[in-house]
Amino acid sequence: MSASDNDVLTALRSAFTPGTLTTDAAELDAHAVDQGPLEHWQVHPPLAVVFAESTQDVQLLVRLSCEHGFALITRGAGTSVSGGANSTEGSVVLNLTRMNQILAMRPEDEVAVVEPGVINADLNAAAAEHGLMYAPDPASYRTSTIGGNVATNAGGLRCAKYGVTRDSVLALDVVLADGTLIHTGQATFKGVAGYDLTSLFVGSEGTLGIVVGVTVRLRHLSAHTETIAAFFDELTTAAQGVLDIGRARVQPAITELLDRRTMLALDEAQGSDLAQRGDTLLLIQTDGHGAAIEAEIIREVLRALGALVSDPGSTESERLIELRRHARGDGIVNEVRVGEDVAVPRSRLVDYIRAIEDLAEEHQVQLKVVAHAGDGNLHPTFSVPSSELGTDTGTGTGTGTETRPDDDAASPAQPEAAPVTIDATEGGLPTSAVSRLHAALDGSVRLALEMGGTITGEHGIGTYKLRWLDWEQSAEVIALQRRIKDVFDPERRLNPGRAIL
Ligand SMILES: Cc1cc2nc3c(=O)[nH]c(=O)nc-3n(C[C@H](O)[C@H](O)[C@H](O)COP(=O)(O)OP(=O)(O)OC[C@H]3O[C@@H](n4cnc5c(N)ncnc54)[C@H](O)[C@@H]3O)c2cc1C
Repeated sequence: MSASDNDVLTALRSAFTPGTLTTDAAELDAHAVDQGPLEHWQVHPPLAVVFAESTQDVQLLVRLSCEHGFALITRGAGTSVSGGANSTEGSVVLNLTRMNQILAMRPEDEVAVVEPGVINADLNAAAAEHGLMYAPDPASYRTSTIGGNVATNAGGLRCAKYGVTRDSVLALDVVLADGTLIHTGQATFKGVAGYDLTSLFVGSEGTLGIVVGVTVRLRHLSAHTETIAAFFDELTTAAQGVLDIGRARVQPAITELLDRRTMLALDEAQGSDLAQRGDTLLLIQTDGHGAAIEAEIIREVLRALGALVSDPGSTESERLIELRRHARGDGIVNEVRVGEDVAVPRSRLVDYIRAIEDLAEEHQVQLKVVAHAGDGNLHPTFSVPSSELGTDTGTGTGTGTETRPDDDAASPAQPEAAPVTIDATEGGLPTSAVSRLHAALDGSVRLALEMGGTITGEHGIGTYKLRWLDWEQSAEVIALQRRIKDVFDPERRLNPGRAIL
């Protein structure tokens, strides 16, 4: 540890009580990584972790960072899947999970004010008591924080109808890089005074300021929902179904597409027989007072395409939506998986899935696809067949060439898959397999861009996707973003090395 690191620790110890500051090795390791892929040489445990309990704690820590020049990595629940919450060498992690109070619930205004560490599900439970909901529903909703959701502009299942996090954030309290506390936006649905700084902070991945308060817009919690499971013989027809539902001018709250491999994984985990009923599954939910009417229109549209459609009130369909909502890994830890998060215009869904199937074949990797089909956001997962793996595979982070959690695809009955670490040099995954995975990944990202899409629909750039950012953004846009960063954080102490190039 350098002399300056010692100075930092001394300053932290004099500012924070042992209850809010830790240098315990296990805690430092736990705060070094999030759920994103990374390589062993990228793991840098922080010098210390501060568990802020108030905005004053945050301001104090930021001011110490100004004085001593250490990098500050803000952290919610650490469920980022793109390396956004990974610590860096010599950094201090600011953990906001103790700032978890719902400060105001105003049902008449359909607005709530929360601290950043409030868990998404807790806000929803509180809103539900008033017949309201907080619409953005990432599959991590039971663990991820509103602050993290704001920083990543998180999406989820209900986005096609209700929009992403940005569409539900009205105002923010933000601690800037010099410790100043500002309030942006307003507590009304409308407001156009000045530049929209609130929207700028949403999705900026903690690189412009630390969110310490969030005013959110709530929506009506539907008393009626109708859920439909529709099995298709062909993926192409299922994707056509998504477009035909749109053409019928019906707006489901949820439209999820699961391919055959995903169904097989579910069947294996759940003992179900989904894959015997079709090649592709569309899971659809309508809500609101017109839920039953809209569901009937959807059933007709999908039956006309030859789909095997569930009957009204099917409890299995409800169960499948819940599985899809909560699910992520399918518990397989003996193969390397690389999940993606691209989005394409909805009309290109079929073209895109066909093209990545070809890619998977070309690079001899396996492919599994789930998609928030209603908004064209796909989570393809590429993997190496377990037959290629040696016996020296391990789990957790540490010594691998590639670590990777699966995306939100399969069964909650299994424990979530830990990030997989494969050591290519000591009898684990052959280097050729790693190269094939990378080639398939690069190809899938390029294809999304060629079809007018994006390299990340909802997970953010973090550190992991920086490699593709200049494929999507022009040099001029990258330069402008750097200038924005310079305005907010000229010394680059807030979450350095992520989100922008
Ligand atoms: C099982 C699983 C399912 C998932 N499903 C989805 C999904 O459906 N949709 C989706 O969009 N994402 C999903 N994710 C990704 C992840 O949950 C989201 O990105 C989530 O918004 C991160 O919240 P968090 O509290 O864990 O934040 P962290 O992971 O702790 O942080 C994420 C980023 O935000 C920054 N940050 C956190 N809090 C603040 C703050 N208060 N101020 C400033 N910056 C901050 C961090 O520095 C980091 O860059 C999933 C992840 C998992 C593990």
